[in-house]
Amino acid sequence: LTATEPRDLVKIFADPVFDLPGDLSPRERYALVYQRLQHVHAQLDLGEPLLQDQPGLTRLLELAAMVDPGLFHVMFLHHCMTIGAALDYGACDDDIAELCPGRSVGAALMTELGQGNSSADIRTEAVYDPGRREFILDTPGPDAAKYPPNVGLDGVPRLAVVSARLRAGSADRGTCLFLVPLRTATGLGPGVSIQLRPATALLPLDYAAVSFRDVRVPYHRWLRDGAFISEDGSFHDPLGGPHVRTGRSVSMSRFALGAIPSGLAAAARASVMIAIRHAERRRTAGRFAAGTPAISYRHQQRLLLTALAAALAATALARRTAGPCWQITGRGQGAGPVPAVLRQAALAKVAADQLAGRAIAQCRAACGALGFFSENRLIDYEALTLAFTTAGGNNQVILLDAAWAMATGADDAAPDAPPPGELRSGELPSGPDGWLSLLGARERSLHRELTERLRAAEDRGSGQFDAWNSQSHLAQQLAEARAARLTLEAMLAEAAAGTGAGDTGLWLDLCRLVFLDELASRDGSYLAAGLLTAAEVRSIPEQIDETCARLLPHLPTLTDLLQVPAEIIRGPLAGPDYIADLAP
Ligand SMILES: Cc1cc2nc3c(=O)[nH]c(=O)nc-3n(C[C@H](O)[C@H](O)[C@H](O)COP(=O)(O)OP(=O)(O)OC[C@H]3O[C@@H](n4cnc5c(N)ncnc54)[C@H](O)[C@@H]3O)c2cc1C
Repeated sequence: LTATEPRDLVKIFADPVFDLPGDLSPRERYALVYQRLQHVHAQLDLGEPLLQDQPGLTRLLELAAMVDPGLFHVMFLHHCMTIGAALDYGACDDDIAELCPGRSVGAALMTELGQGNSSADIRTEAVYDPGRREFILDTPGPDAAKYPPNVGLDGVPRLAVVSARLRAGSADRGTCLFLVPLRTATGLGPGVSIQLRPATALLPLDYAAVSFRDVRVPYHRWLRDGAFISEDGSFHDPLGGPHVRTGRSVSMSRFALGAIPSGLAAAARASVMIAIRHAERRRTAGRFAAGTPAISYRHQQRLLLTALAAALAATALARRTAGPCWQITGRGQGAGPVPAVLRQAALAKVAADQLAGRAIAQCRAACGALGFFSENRLIDYEALTLAFTTAGGNNQVILLDAAWAMATGADDAAPDAPPPGELRSGELPSGPDGWLSLLGARERSLHRELTERLRAAEDRGSGQFDAWNSQSHLAQQLAEARAARLTLEAMLAEAAAGTGAGDTGLWLDLCRLVFLDELASRDGSYLAAGLLTAAEVRSIPEQIDETCARLLPHLPTLTDLLQVPAEIIRGPLAGPDYIADLAP
C-alpha cells in the first residue's frame, strides 16, 4: 500500500458504494458494511498481510473511519486483530491465505458474558482429544458465551480467533487462541450457535452472542505460539506455565491498540473539518452583529480550535503507538512487546479516545441541530469514541492497571523534579519545557500522594484490596496525568518532525492549546496541589482565546494539516450547499 499513490487509496473510498444510503433495515445496513469491505478488498487485491505495511495500513484505516466508522471496526478486527494474531501466534499458510484477501472475514471472540474484565479469566474450554489429535471447543455455561462480536450476519464467511482455556492431559494449560470457522457462505459451522442481537443505535453492526458445543478444532488451528503436544500426549510450552500463557494470549489486544487510536483520531479530524467549514459559512442572527459568520465568535473558535488541536494530538499518539503494537518477530516464535510497552499503548488508546470524544462532541455542539443528525456524520463519528470507552479494553480498567504499575514501580515513576521555584513564577509557563515540567510535576505529586497513602494503609494493617480500592480515585488521576504528559510529548514530537520553517509558530500554538486545554479541564486539581495560583487559573481562558486568535487567520493551513480528503466525506453538512441538500 505504501507504493500505492495516496490519491488511489482515496479513490477507493470515493466510490458510490460509500454514498449515504436511504432508509435501510438493520440487516441491509450490516450487509452494506460487508459489501464495502469487499469493495476495498477487491480494489486492493491483497496477497500479503497488510500489517507488513504499517504506514499503508494506518492510512487505509484512517480513510475507512472517515467514510464509515462501522467499516473501520470491521477492518481493524480483520486486518489487525485476526490476521495479527494469526501471524504472531503461528497460523498455517492456508489460513493466512484465506484471510489476507478477505475470502473469510476475521473476528476476535475474547470477551465473555459472565464477569467483568472477563478476558483475564476465560471460561470457554478447549479439551485436547489425543485419539483424533483435535480440540473440542465448548461453552460450559451461559456466562461463558462470547459477547458481543459482530458476526451475526449470515452469508458472510467468518474465520475467528477464539480464546479458550486449554485442557490437555487433564491439566489447565492457560488461555490459548484457536482459529475457528464460525460460518461459511451457506451456514454455521457444526456446533456453533450465533444469536444476532437486536439493532443498536450507536455504531450499528451485526453484534451477536456466540456459544460452542463439541466444536472440533484440528491441531493446526491451535495458534500454539511455540507450544506443542507430542504424539505421546505430553504437553510442552516454552512459556513455562498457564499463567504466563494466559498473559501472552490476552496480549493479542495489542493489535487492536495499534489501530484504534488511528480510527478515533481520523474520525475527530473529519469532524473538525466538517465543523470548521460550517462555522465559516453559517450566518448568525446575534444581538450585536447580525450576519456575522459563527467562526467570528470567540466561543466558536474555542470549541473548534481546541478540537482541532485535540484531533492532531490524538493523531500524534496514534502514529507513535502503531509501530510497537504491530511488530511481529517470527511467526509463532516471538514474545511480543514487553508489558510496559503494552501499558503505554493502552494508555495512548484511552487518551486518544478521550481527546477524540471531546473534540467530536465540541464539533457537534458547534454545529447546532445539524450536528445531531446521522446524515451529517458527526454523531456517527462520536459513536466510535463511545464504543471505544470499553471496546478494545475498558478505559477505566486500563487506567487503574497503569496506575498500579506506576505505584508498584513496575513502570517508571514521574520524571525528575524541575528546579525549585520554576513553576511558581506567577505566570503560566510559555514554552514546551515549562509545559512538560508542569504536567510532570502534577504526575509526580499524584504519584507521591498515592504511594504514601498506600504505605500508610499497609502500616495500618489494611488488606491490599481495601488499600487499593480506597485510593482508586487518586490512581485514576495519576494514570490520566501520565496520559496527558504522553499526549503533549507526542504532539511536540510531531510538531518537531512535521513542520516546515514557516509553520513552527502554528505548531507551537497548537501544542499550547493542548497544554492549556489540559489545565482548563483539571484546574482545580492543579490549584489544590499548589502547582498553579488562583491568578494563573483565572488566566487560562484568556490565554486560550489569545492562542485561538493567533491561529484563526491560518485556518486554511490548519485544515490542510487534518489530511481529510474532501471527496470522501459524505453528507449535507460537508457538502457545498447544505441548505439545498436539506430543504424539501
Ligand atoms: C461496540 C463493541 C464491540 C465489541 N466487540 C468485541 C469483539 O469483537 N470481541 C470481543 O471479544 N469483545 C468485544 N467487545 C467487548 C469489549 O472488548 C469489552 O467491552 C471490554 O473488554 C470490557 O469488558 P466488559 O464490557 O466486560 O466490561 P467490564 O469488565 O464489565 O467493565 C465495566 C466496569 O467494571 C469495572 N471493572 C471491571 N473489571 C474490573 C477490574 N478488574 N478492576 C476494577 N474495575 C473493574 C470498571 O469500572 C469497568 O469500567 C466489544 C465491545 C463493544 C462496546
